Amino acid sequence: MTPSPKGRLPIDTYVQGILDQNKVILSKAITVSESTLLSDRHLSREILKKLLPHTGNSFRIGITGIPGVGKSTFIDTFGEFLTKQSLRVAVLAIDPSSTYSQGSILGDKTRMHRLARNPMAYVRPSPTAGSLGGVSRRTREALLLCEAAGYEMILIETVGVGQSEVAVHHMVDAFLLLAIPHTGDELQGIKRGIMEMADIIFMNKAENELLASARKSKAQLSQALRLYPPKESGWKTKLVIGSALHQLGIDQLWDRLCELKARSQKNGYWNNNRQQQALTWMLDHIRSELESRFLEKDLVARRFPLLKQGVLDQEISPIQAAEELLALWQSESGTTP
Ligand code: GDP
Repeated sequence: MTPSPKGRLPIDTYVQGILDQNKVILSKAITVSESTLLSDRHLSREILKKLLPHTGNSFRIGITGIPGVGKSTFIDTFGEFLTKQSLRVAVLAIDPSSTYSQGSILGDKTRMHRLARNPMAYVRPSPTAGSLGGVSRRTREALLLCEAAGYEMILIETVGVGQSEVAVHHMVDAFLLLAIPHTGDELQGIKRGIMEMADIIFMNKAENELLASARKSKAQLSQALRLYPPKESGWKTKLVIGSALHQLGIDQLWDRLCELKARSQKNGYWNNNRQQQALTWMLDHIRSELESRFLEKDLVARRFPLLKQGVLDQEISPIQAAEELLALWQSESGTTP
């Protein structure tokens, strides 16, 4: 058996600590779940298995928007608002492009300075960079651990670029897009796919001289949204204008979120969606496990760099390279197709 890294605790210490809502233990358990060491993967699986009956009770909300739109300010304000409603709040982030390491702890604490010091809140710094699959797995596990620790609200922040929104969309009950007022006619450069995922668009920075353009943007956006087909949940995307900095519009936003939750629980979408998400999680896990086991095989690992370069240089087609690697994998593992 490989020895555990220093500082690892017995499984039951993690489990009990989390159920006792001990933030230090929760952080340690999330660190274990972020590790790629085999012994840690095993430990993490055991912790999760024991905690699973205590998960699933939070309202999971995804938050996205381009950098600078005000996500951290918003989460700080919204999180404070929620704790005043006696709700415990956990904040997670998903950012596969992140180059942060230890520094992000300080980064996130200063980004959400009030919430980070709030005893009713837990702010987890962004995990270090990795493949989207890896980062998604870690975020899902962190989400469950936070639920077991009694957090009723889980806010998952994602940067407004790339595929991370889709990953977060697969983890949450409601998806919130932050936008800013725009004076031009174009629709803020918001990608259509992201608009389609959004349950609520919060038009931030709608204060003082920006209020007029916020109203104009709101009108433009609602017109554009009318053209979209209804969501599977039956919910129509709502628009709320406000200001994270000046704490405006936060209660309206909260009303909308509660309305969404009530409706979706009533029409069965809430459970249905969570079931589908569990299936997606299972399949994602299989996919990433298979891929890493595939790439670890000796013959495959040796041939892979050359074929990868061949594909990059357009000397060999991606399909041809894949077929060759699959054949090597089959010969090595004695598997027949
Ligand atoms: P993020 O990159 O999306 O996390 O955005 P930040 O929360 O870091 O905010 C970017 C900048 O916008 C900061 O200077 C904030 O102070 C400012 N900001 C955020 N929310 C508001 C708001 O509601 N009104 C105004 N005027 N500025 C805001």
